[in-house]
Amino acid sequence: MAIDYLRLSLTDRCNLNCSYCTPLEKKGFLTHGELLRHEELARAAAAFARVGVKKIRLTGGEPLLRRNIVGLVRLLKAIPGLKELAMTTNGVLLRDLAGQLREAGLDRVNISLNTLNPATYDKITGSAALEDAWDGLMAALKGGFSEVKLNMVVMKGVNDAEVRDFARLSMDFRLSVRFIEFFPTNRRSAYLSHTLFTTAETRKLVEKAYGPLTELPPGRGSGPARVFRLTGAKGKIGFISGRSDYFCGSCNRVRMDCTGRVYPCLFSPSTHTLRDLLRAGADEDALADHIKKIFLVKSDYKKDSPSAGHIEMSSLGG
Ligand code: SAM
Repeated sequence: MAIDYLRLSLTDRCNLNCSYCTPLEKKGFLTHGELLRHEELARAAAAFARVGVKKIRLTGGEPLLRRNIVGLVRLLKAIPGLKELAMTTNGVLLRDLAGQLREAGLDRVNISLNTLNPATYDKITGSAALEDAWDGLMAALKGGFSEVKLNMVVMKGVNDAEVRDFARLSMDFRLSVRFIEFFPTNRRSAYLSHTLFTTAETRKLVEKAYGPLTELPPGRGSGPARVFRLTGAKGKIGFISGRSDYFCGSCNRVRMDCTGRVYPCLFSPSTHTLRDLLRAGADEDALADHIKKIFLVKSDYKKDSPSAGHIEMSSLGG
């Protein structure tokens, strides 16, 4: 499968502390000097585009915490060959930024929101920011993006009782609501494994409440999701089954963290980096050559690789 999708983590910091995402051991955050600068991120991104990357998704940590994020979006959007620039955010800071980000060239936005209940939001994220996240979602819907998705990680006994309410949002808004299976990726999430609520269970709840789902052909940007629509709905419903489904064979993505480490697979060790080349002033050709070599080893890793379970979504960005 051709690699044409880069997930670019802009920071290891987050303004939330989600139970299923944040690492158990607090290691402290990276210093300003350790983070790649805007210019370095843009040079790396341009080299990825040179070797076939067509879509970049900005993630984190929380990408909206990155200083002058609007300027960075504008810089990345200007990269030749890049067809799509997207972002995954918790939405808490989006209300005031959605319009500027769209204007700077951001095409799509995914918002991670796992509950509509303030007490549950507090419990999951350690923060009383539900209203801000909701306002961010509404601002995105009004912002003119080509698509807005809402990502809900469904967890048994935590938010599974809200699956119907989330499905309902796809009836009322032009929104793709995506139900994501919880994925154990670090020690804390291994310890939360009992909260797994499978796609089959979620789908059953949705169909019981609103009738049969009609599957839509896989579209651009649906990634590993299977996408459906409820009868009469304005939006869509997607399921991402990282646990119950095996989708390594259709994986078209690589990841780079905010220090320049490249992960050909979510489960590859962090042995590949562009940082030294970037800091030595390497040109786009040299960077592109190095990236090509990293792409070659992608198929060495799988969901059941020995490094599986040790990555940190909180800094690598899912
Ligand atoms: N801060 C941003 C946000 O909240 O969207 C971007 C980073 S966050 C790590 C990216 C995505 O990874 C979110 O949608 C989050 O819900 C998801 N995620 C994190 N840990 C996960 C896990 N253990 N299983 C499934 N999804 C997870």
